[in-house]
Amino acid sequence: MADVRRSAAVSPYPSPGHLGHTTAAPNGWSIPSIAPPAPTAPLGEGLNAWDIARQQFDLAADRLGLGADERAVLRNCKREFTVHFPVQLDDGSVRSFTGYRVQHNLARGPGKGGIRYHPQADLDEVRALAMWMTWKCAVVNIPFGGAKGGVAVDPRELSPTELEKLTRRYTLEIEPLIGPHSDIPAPDVNTDPQVMAWMMDTYSMHKGYTATAVVTGKPVSIGGSEGRIEATGRGCVFTIQQAAKRLGLDLAGSTVAVQGFGNVGATAARLLHDLGCRIVAVSDAEGGIADIRGFDPHRLLRHREETGSVVGFGDTTPITSSDPLTFECDILVPAALENQLTAAVAERVQAKIVAEAANGPTTPEADAILHDRGVFVIPDILCNAGGVTVSYFEWVQDLQHFFWDEAEINRQLHRIMVRSFDQVYRMAQEHDVDLRQGAQMLAISRVAEATRLRGLYP
Ligand code: NAD
Repeated sequence: MADVRRSAAVSPYPSPGHLGHTTAAPNGWSIPSIAPPAPTAPLGEGLNAWDIARQQFDLAADRLGLGADERAVLRNCKREFTVHFPVQLDDGSVRSFTGYRVQHNLARGPGKGGIRYHPQADLDEVRALAMWMTWKCAVVNIPFGGAKGGVAVDPRELSPTELEKLTRRYTLEIEPLIGPHSDIPAPDVNTDPQVMAWMMDTYSMHKGYTATAVVTGKPVSIGGSEGRIEATGRGCVFTIQQAAKRLGLDLAGSTVAVQGFGNVGATAARLLHDLGCRIVAVSDAEGGIADIRGFDPHRLLRHREETGSVVGFGDTTPITSSDPLTFECDILVPAALENQLTAAVAERVQAKIVAEAANGPTTPEADAILHDRGVFVIPDILCNAGGVTVSYFEWVQDLQHFFWDEAEINRQLHRIMVRSFDQVYRMAQEHDVDLRQGAQMLAISRVAEATRLRGLYP
């Protein structure tokens, strides 16, 4: 299998100065620019994402004592759709692109999962991400199955018009699978609310009516949800509060290091600061900054918006992009890329809590080391599930044509994150496993139960 690269951890919600400029569209709207994909590199310790996803599944399935029949269903993706499609470029030439939409499991509801635009998007990566979406939706107990999509493209090479054409044609190609009641895409790496708006419009044009619920992560003005932009960082902070409570750690005065000051990392840093934490180290792809006295992430955000990076902020000490991972702190928030916490890094982690805001930041080897060292790891499928939870709220609001205010969104998000944390924690304690295994076991048992109850057709 091909190596899965570090994906560009690019927010679906770019802000000026962070992801770069916005481009004025001919119709006067502003089109958020797409940030460059991250450099590619093999995954740490030689596994690709699909290998890792299946390895994690096997471990949890063993502990749950799942039978061979159930494993055969859950270990594979239900539908794997590959499409090749032409797009006419601005210079009149035609280029063919390859895209994917994979539905891992639909036993608990319609497929849910983002669309990734990345030069190295491939079937294995999309399969892994689809499987993780199944477990993530099941952990927070929202009625979705897992899906994911991708197009092998470097969006930096496309003009806004070409990006729109590609998005519309890809939407048409995967139309047999997607729909408000069958499979609901969302933004992922290098896709954003504007891309979701084009997808929604294309689908709606073909149906002949407006179907806002076909995608989530849309702009609020066309059926998006209040609070969606901050949802992942906010949910992550809710889980940190629960972990701190279990450890008897007072968040007021606790120190925090954040790798990746994008949508999720910056939101988490701001909310933790507001809870009284001291933010002592932060990095992005350009480098990092540290100050053991702590600094104000709200001001840092303004600096990033002005300069495009956290580097050079105030009276801080320069550090590298990876230094926050091993910085002296109570809470570490990896909020950048996959496979940052390798075995070698894990040996040097000083934090008491690692809150996996990013997807897959920890390799399986590093996981075992952190567990042995007594580090409290909040696993990604729990820690960053706030995003898909508010996507669920968006879908519900779209279907009901009735919209909630942000206070209601945040209250419901808090309820779901706290409940899910408690359930994962209890599962881990009952089976004497770490929280990742606890989360996987909880999720897999829910999906297995749905599969059993529905039975086989025909
Ligand atoms: P983002 O692009 O807004 O932020 C990513 C940040 O990571 C940027 O500041 C970037 O400069 C930085 N970065 C990139 N490479 C780095 C490196 N080598 N070292 C340090 N920093 C680096 O993306 P985001 O939406 O905040 O997503 C971050 C992570 O959270 C990703 O793993 C994503 O899959 C995951 N996630 C995001 C959401 C969401 O709703 N946005 C939901 C679930 C999971």
